[in-house]
Amino acid sequence: MQPNLNTVPMKDWGLGLDEFVVISGPCSAENEDQVVSTAKAVAKSDKVKVLRAGIWKPRTRPNSFEGVGEVGLEWLNAAKEATGLPIATEVANAQHVEVCLKHNVDILWLGARSTVNPFTVQEIADALKGVDVPVIVKNPINPDLQLWIGALERINQAGITKLAAIHRGFSSFEKTPFRNVPMWEIPIELKRLCPEIEIICDPSHIAGNRDIIPFIAQKAIDMDMHGLMIESHIQPSIALSDAQQQLKPAALVAMAAELKLRQPES
Ligand code: PEP
Ligand code: MN
Repeated sequence: MQPNLNTVPMKDWGLGLDEFVVISGPCSAENEDQVVSTAKAVAKSDKVKVLRAGIWKPRTRPNSFEGVGEVGLEWLNAAKEATGLPIATEVANAQHVEVCLKHNVDILWLGARSTVNPFTVQEIADALKGVDVPVIVKNPINPDLQLWIGALERINQAGITKLAAIHRGFSSFEKTPFRNVPMWEIPIELKRLCPEIEIICDPSHIAGNRDIIPFIAQKAIDMDMHGLMIESHIQPSIALSDAQQQLKPAALVAMAAELKLRQPES
């Protein structure tokens, strides 16, 4: 069945976004200073339009840092106050949606471990009924395009039209240079089946290490993606999650300046 999504482009989300958007900020909110300092530093790039930070973290193994919870939204709002950047965080259940709406989070995203589960996606979709908030849906951890489209449809059918997709790669047991293999043909096929959906690439979770992030970011742009989500941290070496892949803000700003954006067709 041909998917039929009804979506509004990011530039019309009412958040001051451009045709091309860089979302940056820490993997996890850890404390107020870390969030606000990172935000102020990444806001120096004119391409950075949204601040991200996870506050409920879906860790693979137990007994690791699982996020600071609701208080992190106060820090994100302090960072928004300091920089003017809209704020985004991950939601993985209906209660997360409720708490985010209470704290005026500007953009919600579904993580790869949520997109994989239709029950979870439907629970989130039900919590979004009657709400006007932008939502971005990461691909599922496994390379299942229909599952990704299904999640986008569930959120769209709940009435969310400010909707975009994030390509963050796919997990594999094979040893590869990537933490999550990009399988570029999957976002290409998503674009073919759903030309209206804008796709953001997440080079951080594809790469798993900071060295190959610029290469993946430029490739995503060359493939006509509409944005990038790139993790940054004032001190990546002591980050409580994803330490290997977070960029120092100055490196993020320098990298963003080097990116060659596609020229709009005249
Ligand atoms: C994240 O963005 O920090 C995250 C947990 O991402 P993913 O769902 O892509 O693994
Ligand atoms: Mn992360």
